[in-house]
Amino acid sequence: MPELPEMETYRQLLTPRLVGQTIRAVRIHREKSVNLPAGQFAQGILGVRIAAIDRRAKYLLFRLETGQALLLHLMLGGLMFLGSEEDRPDRNTQVELDLSGGQTLYFIGLRLGYLHLLDERQYLAVLAKLGPEPLAPDFTLERFEQLLSGTRGTLKTTLVNQQKLSGIGNCYADEICFEAAILPTRPLASLSLQPAGDSGRLYSAMRAVLMEAIRQGGYMEQPLFAGDHLTGGYNDHCLVYDRGGEPCVRCGGAIIQAELSSRKVFYCAQCQH
Ligand SMILES: [Zn+2]
Repeated sequence: MPELPEMETYRQLLTPRLVGQTIRAVRIHREKSVNLPAGQFAQGILGVRIAAIDRRAKYLLFRLETGQALLLHLMLGGLMFLGSEEDRPDRNTQVELDLSGGQTLYFIGLRLGYLHLLDERQYLAVLAKLGPEPLAPDFTLERFEQLLSGTRGTLKTTLVNQQKLSGIGNCYADEICFEAAILPTRPLASLSLQPAGDSGRLYSAMRAVLMEAIRQGGYMEQPLFAGDHLTGGYNDHCLVYDRGGEPCVRCGGAIIQAELSSRKVFYCAQCQH
């Protein structure tokens, strides 16, 4: 599932390409992917200019000049492509938006994912349920420690809990724990809350892993447009996620694949403690 770095990469690439353009046509091939009857959805966005593209957690928000916004969550398997009919991946699309610049934005794999047309009050209500952004300047080590000390459960289940901390999912939670050399299965109560201890290491690892993943374009499998060499650049940089049985790059031990609260979890039992 796309996480913060994947959606941030999309935001950065789409902003200069889409902002200021007008939506000229909309085709909805799967009505469940949107929140309104197709005709009403189209009526709300046709001829409307995209004023800005924002990201919050794993959501993208296409802000429209009308004050409404298209709120996108890709969930599992969703992705986007910007281009023409000839360039686009040979995959079923659920929603297509034709833009005044001549290109089409294709929404692919929106099975659990969705694109909802919402007014400000509605989308703010959705976003209000989310925990803080891990890379926000005001999300300090102190706030991170408050979060860890005020929560029960294990480290990984907390890192991926969107109400506690938003934007981190299965892959980056495991990568952050590996970077910090801490087991994702650790109960929070067992972590030392000190700048030089577990919380300090986790906080630094969280920022380092997410910023590097953004710099490298995240782990999406498909480019966003023809000639896009940024998207997916982080794909081969995951050190433990989906690497069960492979040797650990730090110590040579075998990467363990296990299950934690019905999620996959990957770690090195030899150098993560
Ligand atoms: Zn190791």
